[in-house]
Amino acid sequence: MEGKKFYPTKRYLEFQKNAIANLESFWEKEAEKIPWFKRWEKVLVWDEPFAKWFVGGMLNASYGCIDAHLHSWRKNKVAIYWEDEQGNTKSFSYVQLHREVNKLASVLKKIGVEKGDIVVLYLPMIPELVFSMLATVRIGAIHTVVFSGFSSQALADRINDTRAKVLITADFGIRRGKFVPLKDIVDNALKLTPSIKKVVLIKRTEKEVKIEEGRDLLYHELLKNAENYVEPEPVESTHPLYILYTSGTTGKPKGIVHSTGGYLVYNYATYKWVFDISDESIYWCTADVGWVTGHSAIVYAPLLHGATIVIYEGAPDFPYLDKWWEIIEKYGVTIFYTSPTALRMFIRYGEEWIKKHDLSSLKILGTVGEPINPEVWEWYYKNIGNERCPIVDTWWQTETGGMMISPSPGLELVPLKPGSATLPLPGIDAEVVDDTGNPVPPGTKGYLVIKKPWPGMLMGIYEDPDRYKETYWSKFKGMYYTADYAMKDEEGYFWLLGRADEILKVAGHRIGTAEIEGAVVATPFAAEAAVVGMADPIKGEAIVIFVILKQGYNPDDSLKKKIIDSIRTQIGPFATPQEIYFVEKLPKTRSGKIMRRILKAIVQDKPIGDVTTLEDEASVEEIKTAYEEFKKMIR
Ligand code: ATP
Ligand code: MG
Repeated sequence: MEGKKFYPTKRYLEFQKNAIANLESFWEKEAEKIPWFKRWEKVLVWDEPFAKWFVGGMLNASYGCIDAHLHSWRKNKVAIYWEDEQGNTKSFSYVQLHREVNKLASVLKKIGVEKGDIVVLYLPMIPELVFSMLATVRIGAIHTVVFSGFSSQALADRINDTRAKVLITADFGIRRGKFVPLKDIVDNALKLTPSIKKVVLIKRTEKEVKIEEGRDLLYHELLKNAENYVEPEPVESTHPLYILYTSGTTGKPKGIVHSTGGYLVYNYATYKWVFDISDESIYWCTADVGWVTGHSAIVYAPLLHGATIVIYEGAPDFPYLDKWWEIIEKYGVTIFYTSPTALRMFIRYGEEWIKKHDLSSLKILGTVGEPINPEVWEWYYKNIGNERCPIVDTWWQTETGGMMISPSPGLELVPLKPGSATLPLPGIDAEVVDDTGNPVPPGTKGYLVIKKPWPGMLMGIYEDPDRYKETYWSKFKGMYYTADYAMKDEEGYFWLLGRADEILKVAGHRIGTAEIEGAVVATPFAAEAAVVGMADPIKGEAIVIFVILKQGYNPDDSLKKKIIDSIRTQIGPFATPQEIYFVEKLPKTRSGKIMRRILKAIVQDKPIGDVTTLEDEASVEEIKTAYEEFKKMIR
C-alpha cells in the first residue's frame, strides 16, 4: 500500500458530520432499534462531566438480549456454543438460555438479592457466567465481574469497594490442564470482606471443596426449587448495568460504572457498524468476560443482535497450537475478535498450524487492547483472513463502554491503513490536542480526547465523583481525556501511539512506545517488543528495548544491529536505543497488555517495591516472578 493516498469516502464524512451536528436526534434513531418498555423523555441531560442518556426510558437488558428473540425464528437457534480445552462442549438455544437465566434470577431473588444490589461474579469462562450476568440484571441488580485469574487479595479489594452481599463462584477453573481452586481463593478473600452474606457455588467437578454452612449455597441444589419465569424488572435507562474495574495497566484499578440504556444503545449500534453483526453471525471474541471487551463483545452486543456466540475456556495455545483455528473451523465462526498480543504469540509459532484448517467462514477480523503494528496487521490479514476479510482495529477503553475509533465495514468500508484504527465512529468527536488543549496539525503527535458525550460513556467511578472528574475531565476543559497518545494524519486517520504516561522524551523529541516497538517488529525476526525509557543526563531519556524473537532465531549482535537499522530508518537516528535485551517473556497484565512500568523499574534498578503501590495488588506475585525471571533471562 506504500505510496497510495487514502481518503475517507464522502459518504462516511457526510454521515459523521450529520451525526456530530445533530447528536441527539442521531442517537435517538439508534435508540429506537432496541426494545424499551417505556420511551425516554429526554435524549441527553449533559451536566458536565456527567451524562444521562435516554432519561425517563425504561428497559431491561436481559429482556433485550433474550426475551426479545423468543417470538421469532431465533427462539431455537443457538445462542451460545461453549467449549473447554479438553474438548467438552455445550450449546444453548435462545429458549434454553432464557430458561437458565430465569431460573437463576428466581434463585437470586429468593436469597435476597434486590433491585440495585451488587452481585460479584468470580467465575471462569463457563456458560453460567453469562447466565449469572443476565440473571442479575434481569432482577434490576448490578453485576461486577472479577476476572477469575485474580488473587484473593484483588478479589477482596473489589468486593470491599462495592460492599456486595452476594457472590457467585465455581469450585474450579481449568487452564492448561490445571485446576484453579477458585473456591479456596474465594474463601480466603471472604476472610477480608464482611459484606458478603451468601455465596452461590457452581460445582463443575467431583472434587471436594469446603462448604460453609449458612453462607455457601449449591447452585444445582438451588435450581431444584427455581421458577421457570421471572418478570424482567423494568429499570431506568440510567440505572447502572454493571461496575467493572479497569485492567490496572497504569495504576490502581477504577470501578467504572455503566448505565443500562446508553450502554446498550451504543453497543447495539456500533456492533452493526463495525462488525456488520446480524442474527446469522457466529461471533467469537477471545477476551475473558472479566474485561470490558468480554462484557460488550461476548455478552451484551451479540445477544442483543440475536447472534450466536462462541465461548472458549482455555489458553490460546493449549492443548495444541491450532486449538483456536480448529474452533473457527468447527463452529463456522464468521466474526473473529482478538488482541494483538495473541496474534504476536501465534506469529512466533509459524503458519503451519493455521494451514491445517479451513477458515473460509470468516468475514471480518478485529483487534483490540493495544496498537497493532502494521506487520502484525498484514500477517493477520494474509494468514487468518486469506486477504478476504477487512480488519477492524478497534480503539476503546473500559470507560468508553464500546468501540470509538474503528473502521466500520457494516456502515461503509473506508480504505484501511494497516496500523491505524482509522476514523472515529459516527457521533464520536475525537481529536488530538497539545498540552494546552488545542488541536494539533495533521502529522503532529498529541493527546487523544473526546469532545462530546456519547451514549456508551461511563457514568462515573463507583462512589468517587471527584476521582472521575480528576482523572478524565481535569486535564483539558470540557474534553474527556483518554490518557492515550495519538496522531491524526492528513486524511484524518488516527494512529494510536501508546499511553500518554509512557511517552519517551529523547533529545527533545517525544516518541510513543508503539512507534519504536513497531519499528522493532518490522524486522523479520522480532515477534514482540517493549520499549521503556531510562534516565539519561544528556538525552533526557535513553531508549531500552526488550525483544522476543520468533522461533528459529537466536539472539546475537547482528540482530541487534538490524533492529537499530530499522529504528534509524523508520523513525530517525535520534531514536537509536541504548540497550537491547532478548528475552523469552514480557511482563503483562492479566488482560495480556505489556506492563512497561515493571520494565522501567528494572532498567532504572529501582526495587520492585517502588511500583507495587501503584500496582494492582493481584498481579504483585506475578510481577515479582516476572521481575526475577527477567534478571535471570537478560543476557
Ligand atoms: P488502566 O486504565 O487501569 O491502566 P487499561 O487502560 O489497560 O487499564 P482498558 O480499559 O482495558 O484498561 O484498556 C484501554 C486501553 O487499551 C486504551 O486506553 C489504550 O491504551 C489501549 N487500547 C485499546 N484498544 C486499542 C487499539 N485498538 N489501539 C491502541 N491502543 C488500544
Ligand atoms: Mg485505561
